Amino acid sequence: MSQQLGFFFDQTRCTGCKACQVACKDKHDLPVGRTWRRVAEYAGGSFATGPDGSFSPSVFAYYTSIACNHCADPACVRACPSTAMRKDPGTGIVSIDQSVCIGCRYCEWACPYGAPQYDPAAKVMSKCDFCADLIADGKPPACVAACPTRALDYGDIEDLEREHGTLRAVAPLPDPDITRPCLIINPHRDAQPQGHGAGSVANPKEL
Ligand code: SF4
Repeated sequence: MSQQLGFFFDQTRCTGCKACQVACKDKHDLPVGRTWRRVAEYAGGSFATGPDGSFSPSVFAYYTSIACNHCADPACVRACPSTAMRKDPGTGIVSIDQSVCIGCRYCEWACPYGAPQYDPAAKVMSKCDFCADLIADGKPPACVAACPTRALDYGDIEDLEREHGTLRAVAPLPDPDITRPCLIINPHRDAQPQGHGAGSVANPKEL
């Protein structure tokens, strides 16, 4: 039976520990410079001083764990000139056949999530494959299994929507209309609207 796998991210539970990021790097033996799952910290606000000298804080910060979203309309697949980037019709997983990849990096430019990443040693692209080997064994992806607060989950996207709703983006994520990501978010209480956030990414060098 065909399905479309997706991720669920409960932003209210994420502490920014990056266990998901480390588990992904460990599972896929990724070197420094390639990080298929990343955790963005988004922060903003200020402390306003009242006439009596008191402070009124409006500061906020929250985390977003992000990897490939195995999108329903994957810009990476559309951009790939060699058919190396493919979407599996049975699972919806988007992956790269590195034996066909010519390393042109068009997928990297096309993806608004920074998911495809260049492997300079092999001169081909690489990316999250949803831990397809674990999925085939009925096990969760490494990032999901590693999360100590159970902020990450996965499943058929229609089941995730039924359980958690249909929110697919908060700041600083891109417009979900671009690729229709298979990602559902339970937003943090201070989550800012996509495209209109009042903060900025606090850890850009990590992304
Ligand atoms: Fe492709 Fe990027 Fe969507 Fe992943 S997140 S399927 S790489 S467009």
